Amino acid sequence: MKRAALFCCLTIAVLIAVITPLHSFAAAADGKLRILVFGAHPDDAEFKAGGTAAKWAKLGHHVKLVSVTNGDIGHWQMAGGPLAQRRTAEVQAAAKKLGVESQVLDIHDGELLPTLENRKLITKVIRDWKADIVISHRPWDYHPDHRYVGVLVQDAAFMVTVPFFCPDSPPLKTNPVFLFSSDGFQRPYPFKPDVAVDIGDVLEQKLDAIHELASQVYEGGANGSEEFVRSVPPESDAAGRKAWLKNRWQDRQSREADKARAVLQEFYGEEAGKAVKYAESFEICEYGRRPSPEELKKLFPIGE
Ligand SMILES: [Zn+2]
Repeated sequence: MKRAALFCCLTIAVLIAVITPLHSFAAAADGKLRILVFGAHPDDAEFKAGGTAAKWAKLGHHVKLVSVTNGDIGHWQMAGGPLAQRRTAEVQAAAKKLGVESQVLDIHDGELLPTLENRKLITKVIRDWKADIVISHRPWDYHPDHRYVGVLVQDAAFMVTVPFFCPDSPPLKTNPVFLFSSDGFQRPYPFKPDVAVDIGDVLEQKLDAIHELASQVYEGGANGSEEFVRSVPPESDAAGRKAWLKNRWQDRQSREADKARAVLQEFYGEEAGKAVKYAESFEICEYGRRPSPEELKKLFPIGE
């Protein structure tokens, strides 16, 4: 009898250890935010939210950048397993520079579909991270993988709290705040930022992270060419490459700041908002929890 009781207790203990993610304790203990940024490919989350992620991480919040596909056709010269491995290593190196975690899901690049299987997968990723904030592409993007990340995350937005959907993973008690990352698409409606973050103080850090994504930024990814590679400073000239990168990204982030100027002024004050040079911006998704501007200011690393 005693032996049977001991065996029973051990079995329960093992089961609890297996089904309870370790970080659920960490989250309860440290009271920090838990943030997930989804991108379709190993570079999208870093491009769209790398600066904001670095700022969150500096404040002790827990950030994970997730690539929903493995990027295995995202290059003009190589493909398949070796490319997926290369791109996974790139985003891991970038995550280290940002002070965040990184995950690449094992789905072929260019083949993502909004299936029930993938809805369950995305739901579990959000639940496992115990996310307070979830960011994804909008479902109006040019690239089918980007679009379907938007659809899948929207579809998961309700399901993450429903106990009998994927009953093998514990549901979230509070619905996260879901947001979209910025894009330039105009139809059916243009991106309209609800929150914008000054990333001037972490721009160098974001660039250090993006510098690690060589297959994309220095080789041109799927649309690259030998000609493109020749137009970029060579790998042996790291300083030259970084200067080349800085030039492009300063432009990109300052255009984003200009587009989000009104929101920057709302969050930082009129003068300080006007002075912001480089920004990342996000739009609240209709689904999930809808925070007030005051709460958004607390959730995002806006600073006082
Ligand atoms: Zn992409």
